[in-house]
This record gives sequence, structure tokens and C-alpha cells, in this order.
Amino acid sequence: MFKALLVEKDADGKTSAQVAEVSEDQLPEGDVTVAVEYSTVNYKDGLCIGPGGGLVRNYPHVPGIDFAGTVETSDDARYKPGDKVVLTGWRVGENRWGGYAQKARVKADMLVPLPEGLTTHQAMAVGTAGLTAMLAVMALEDQGITDGPVLVTGAAGGVGSVATAILANLGHQVAAVTGRPEQEDYLKSLGASQIVARDEYAETSRKPLEAEVWGGCVDAVAGVMLGRVLKQMQYGSSVAAIGLAGGAAIDGALITPFILRGVNLLGIDSVMQPFENRQRAWARIARDLPMAKLDAMVQPATLAELPQLGRDILKGQVKGRVVVDVNA
Ligand code: NDP
Repeated sequence: MFKALLVEKDADGKTSAQVAEVSEDQLPEGDVTVAVEYSTVNYKDGLCIGPGGGLVRNYPHVPGIDFAGTVETSDDARYKPGDKVVLTGWRVGENRWGGYAQKARVKADMLVPLPEGLTTHQAMAVGTAGLTAMLAVMALEDQGITDGPVLVTGAAGGVGSVATAILANLGHQVAAVTGRPEQEDYLKSLGASQIVARDEYAETSRKPLEAEVWGGCVDAVAGVMLGRVLKQMQYGSSVAAIGLAGGAAIDGALITPFILRGVNLLGIDSVMQPFENRQRAWARIARDLPMAKLDAMVQPATLAELPQLGRDILKGQVKGRVVVDVNA
């Protein structure tokens, strides 16, 4: 038996989450069993701890879309007991049991060996949000970041915090958009050179284009904000769109930035990234993300604290990254 955060659904369709003892034979099919050490709290976890947001197929359910730990048993030649591993994506924690448990069973293809130079705690301080931030930066680099500052939206959140730290460390001027002015010192400590109030992007603009400002953008928000940002991108620059914290549409967007300024809109999906991309991104994280800055982003949590944290992240109230010690 081991501890897990179990989400159950009653006959009226109402969900509830509590820490429970579960047995190993309840784990899903898979060829590697991992003794989980750490998991994290991401926006999707907030949905899966609550009513599911259409992501969870079967109850009872164990959320947790990422984890790091040690291989306990393996039927796959790539992994042996004692190996340290990281998992992000593959809908783990959504349509199969995830990392909010002391044990997890997955397919070997879903794992990545713990990158050289990272501890399991650091790997989860990065987690899905940090991997996504790195994939976004790599996508911008592939297209070329132009001379202007790089804008990061939803900057005080998980993806935004890591993107800010990576971009600043790579030598870019970073402008961080936040709705939380009290996080200005935090964002500057991560390397942001300019803080932009979320309110500046509250209104849709009817103009086809605005003054060219940004040399690149990592966008976690979409909605009205992305509609405006696209019109302010420099000629030939790119936006890496990773999330929809502010809405599922791009409000007020026009074709003009794409045609008249050659702007690229790059969609980033961390869930189904092939092994090579995930491994390349993890290696870049180990190289390009200063660990002292990563420490400043992290708050610790236990399994029992997850129901509240799930509600907080859906309201955009979590700062940086929450690392869950599943054995605490
Ligand atoms: P967080 O909740 O940690 O961060 C989101 C941030 O967006 C908030 O902290 C807040 O930042 C800002 N925000 C929240 N609500 C609004 C709003 N209504 N209008 C404008 N800004 C808002 O989430 P994550 O960083 O973990 O994830 C961000 C998004 O990216 C989510 O939609 C998530 O589902 C998605 N995602 C996508 C991935 C992919 O593979 N593409 C992987 C991981 C996440 P501030 O207070 O600074 O304004």
C-alpha cells in the first residue's frame, strides 16, 4: 500500500479529493514502476483535482501531470532499478494515474532519464511548466529573435517565471507582463528588466498594427492580450503561444501582423513531444537555467495541501512553481 491523492466522483457527479492509501494492483498497466519523489502543481492539475475539466476519463483518479523519482521495477531494457527518471506529458495525470502518489506505473517511452546535473527536486522545480518554457524559447530561437526586448505574458506564473529566467540568462532584455504588481521584485530577481501591467492589454485595439516593440514573445495568456501583442511584434519576429490562462481565443487578432510584418505564431505543445526533443530541452534547461533563480521560484507542498493549491492555480494565484514532496 502507498499514499496518493485520490479524486473520487459520487453518484451526483460531484468530485472530491483526499489523501488515501491505495494498493499497487490499482496502478495502470505499464512496464516501469517508479518510486515517486516529487511532483508539481500545473494549471491542468488544478482542473484534474477538481471536476476534471473534461481531461479525466475514469474515477477514482490520481492527478499529477509530472513527476521525478527512482525506478523500482522495469520490464524495459532502457531502465533498471535505481535509475533516476523524469516524466512530463503523455496525458499522465489526466487519462491515466499520475504523480500525486508515492508510486506510479508508466510506459518506458514516456520517461526521460534524469538530466545530468539535476536532482529530482530541481527537475520538478522545472517540471512541465519549465519544460514548456524551454521548448518555447527553443522555438523562438529556431525562427530568430529580433533586436527588441522579449515579452513574457503570465510572467509570475509557472511557465512565465521559468521563461523569464531562461531568456534573461541567455542575455535577452525581458519585459514581464503581470497582473500582480506586488510580484515586481520577484520578476526582477528572475532577470526581467521591464515590468508591464496586465491592464495595458485589457482592451482590444481596432488598429491593424501598432508600433513595433517586441523581438519575441512567450505567451501563456492568449485572449485579448495576445490579440494586441501580435500587432506590436517587430518585423520577422515570433510569438510562442503556450497557454490560454486568459481565454481560449485570440481576441481582436487580424491577419495584418502576419502579412505586413512577417510575424510567426508558433504553437507549443509539451504533451506529445518526441523523446529527442524532450531530452534536448532538458539538456538545455540543465545548461541555461540558473539553479539559484530556480530556487527562488519554488514553494514546497504536501499531498494534503493539493486540493487548495488546485483551486489557487485556477484563479491565477500561484507564484512560480509548487514542488510536491509526495513522501512528506
Ligand atoms: P499559472 O497559473 O502558474 O500561470 C498563469 C499566469 O497567467 C498567472 O500566474 C497570471 O500571471 C496569468 N493570468 C492568469 N489568469 C489571467 C487572465 N485572466 N488574464 C491575464 N493573465 C492571466 O499556469 P502555468 O504557467 O502553469 O500555465 C499557463 C498556461 O499554459 C495554462 O493555460 C496552461 O494550461 C498552459 N500550459 C500549456 C502547456 C503546453 O504544453 N502548451 C504546458 C504547461 C502549461 P500574472 O499574475 O503574472 O499576470
